[in-house]
Amino acid sequence: MTAKSAAAAARATVYGYPRQGPNRELKKAIEGYWKGRVTADALRTTAAELRAANWRQLADAGIDEVPTGDFSYYDHVLDTTVMVGAIPGRHRAAVATDPLDGYFAMARGTQDVAPLEMTKWFDTNYHYLVPELGPYTVFTADPAKQVAELGEALALGLGARPVLVGPVTYLLLAKPAPGVPADFEPLTLLDRLLPVYAEVLADLRAAGAEWAQLDEPALVQDRTPAELDAAARAYRDLGALTDRPKLLVASYFDRLGDALPVLAKAPVDGLALDFTDAAAANLDALAAVGGLPGKRLIAGVVNGRNVWINDLEKSLATLGTLLGLADRVDVAASCSLLHVPLDTALERDIEPQIRRWLAFARQKTAEVVALARGLALGTDAITGELAANRADLAARANSPITHDPAVRARAAAVRDTDARRSQPYAERAAAQRAHLGLPLLPTTTIGSFPQTGELRTARADLRTGRIDTAGYEERIRAEIQDVVSFQEKAGLDVLVHGEPERNDMVQYFAEQLTGYLATEHGWVQSYGTRYVRPPILAGDISRPEPMTVRWTTYAQSLTDRPVKGMLTGPVTMLAWSFVRDDQPLGDTARQVALALRDEVDDLETGGTSVIQVDEPALRETLPLRTVDRPAYLAWATEAFRLSTGGVRPDTQIHTHMCYAEFGDIVQAIDDLDADVISLEAARSHMQVARELAAHGYPREAGPGVYDIHSPRVPSAEEAAELLRTGLRAIPAERLWVNPDCGLKTRGWPETRASLENLVAAARTVREEL
Ligand code: GLN
Ligand code: ZN
Repeated sequence: MTAKSAAAAARATVYGYPRQGPNRELKKAIEGYWKGRVTADALRTTAAELRAANWRQLADAGIDEVPTGDFSYYDHVLDTTVMVGAIPGRHRAAVATDPLDGYFAMARGTQDVAPLEMTKWFDTNYHYLVPELGPYTVFTADPAKQVAELGEALALGLGARPVLVGPVTYLLLAKPAPGVPADFEPLTLLDRLLPVYAEVLADLRAAGAEWAQLDEPALVQDRTPAELDAAARAYRDLGALTDRPKLLVASYFDRLGDALPVLAKAPVDGLALDFTDAAAANLDALAAVGGLPGKRLIAGVVNGRNVWINDLEKSLATLGTLLGLADRVDVAASCSLLHVPLDTALERDIEPQIRRWLAFARQKTAEVVALARGLALGTDAITGELAANRADLAARANSPITHDPAVRARAAAVRDTDARRSQPYAERAAAQRAHLGLPLLPTTTIGSFPQTGELRTARADLRTGRIDTAGYEERIRAEIQDVVSFQEKAGLDVLVHGEPERNDMVQYFAEQLTGYLATEHGWVQSYGTRYVRPPILAGDISRPEPMTVRWTTYAQSLTDRPVKGMLTGPVTMLAWSFVRDDQPLGDTARQVALALRDEVDDLETGGTSVIQVDEPALRETLPLRTVDRPAYLAWATEAFRLSTGGVRPDTQIHTHMCYAEFGDIVQAIDDLDADVISLEAARSHMQVARELAAHGYPREAGPGVYDIHSPRVPSAEEAAELLRTGLRAIPAERLWVNPDCGLKTRGWPETRASLENLVAAARTVREEL
């Protein structure tokens, strides 16, 4: 096929679309069903209507082939678990009795049965339910959902393509089931799983599928030769089937690397590749293997996970290069549009000029369609789109919002010494000991106290105008008084103000920094029916005024004990926002760090001697490929040090991260040069303490002794036992006593009892020293 005919055949498609509906109808229907207010039939009807509306919208926008099967009541990996019949033993009875209730039981657990574990979908903020497999797992095909949804789209007269999680990715995302040895590798089940996929594919073919898409994003991560062999075998076997649709293997979130030649050689009919900046290496790699002769290539040139308009001319140039490399080139977003909000048109509060820089799912769909037309018919067919796009890109590039000279000058003037404390850790530690006068095994908390109904009501009242700012702040001060007086009575050593003024640990700061945009309807799915509205880092960042100082100093005015100031660190501010695509991430992190540095310095000036800068996202932001990690960790740790490097030696800097496994970033944690770190440890019996010790971590640490993920109150004896375990790894001079994480999701009764027990445990163990 010539480049010209490849171009003429260009089509537009996407791999998935936001599921919730324009007014989060799906969330409401599912939660209504859980509460018994919505019947199963009504839920099914709502879901079917939302699917149909999405498909019609996509088709009306000019998408030639709509995705099917991407819809989910909870999670598409859980749907795959159902499709292959890998229902965990403990859920089988419930699923047999009522498939829908059994499905939700796997997702959320019941009174008696634990749910599947949930974890992040690659480096996105979407969470999937982890399949549990073992040597005894028997797979059986259950294609009903896929077949039915394909049928619905075909019945609307649309071109449709089922989208499935591929077998290799499914197994690589799974973990050994409870009771199965931890070294069991789910990938060893591949030969048993492939016949099930074969059956599903045959049924889809019978139901009218011309193509089927198998998503293999796990292949953009580092893979062993054995794993690459498994991928080769999987697609050799599936390709060899006679009764199947044409197969499209899709990858996204990064470059394919060594997996590219494997898939290019496989006897499948097409590949979908990410060609956004992060995965640009795919282009050369594709040329290096001689392209995809005889195959269809879907080019993911519109970034499916950021919120920015595409550079259409640049994408057309990429597409032009690709034309020579495949039999047919189609255009798509780089990944499912699940990861972006629905529609910028709903954002009435964002200035219209700035709104033009933004592209959510609907706008990205329009870009994909324009690019496919430009490719098929020539740029003359889209002159209007190109002119508008050029103007919007230029407006963004030249805007004072994206280029604040003062912010840029300051960032450019940063010297190495700014990102370094004035004294080494050991000397600081001595100065802090003298300054703070804390006992051995000092007790503290991670920051937030219960976010009560009254606090949420106060915030809602402020928003609706039922109370004014003064009235709202009065309520916040009253809450701070309660929190401080409780902590004094309970006998904690380093107090906090409790964070009652914060709706969310990122949004609270984003609202006060220039350069951040908030959205009104920018919901994206985090997991199940949970949606978040990440703020958008749109411009240069500065801090016009102190953000937390008056709350912290108010709390300090109520007590003689030290009150710890609380900030969200630069990496987490980026990780839980939509970030800029017009400058390196490290540059954005540095701007945020400098704004936080001012806050840290102002806290110190205001009399705060202990300041905690939370970085729970440090690990989750790690790039998918290990070769990319050192560069990330270099700017990430520098940003943290820049935000905390300006304080006196006797001011104690804490950081906090909430996970129990971090063996791979202990060095980075050390590089933060914080004085104290608190971590999650209660469930893993202080495993982190042992890991820190094994690494020779020299600083103070507070492995959590109170699991805040459950309402259960740990006894004083239980907490003491964890402390004794901690002491075997970390000497008493460097061990802190604290919960695993913030208490905002807990109720007051269990919080009170647990913290009292925690203080009692510290006292008991101090006496044993
Ligand atoms: N300081 C925050 C809190 O206590 C930390 C939250 C977090 O680690 N995710 O709520
Ligand atoms: Zn935490």
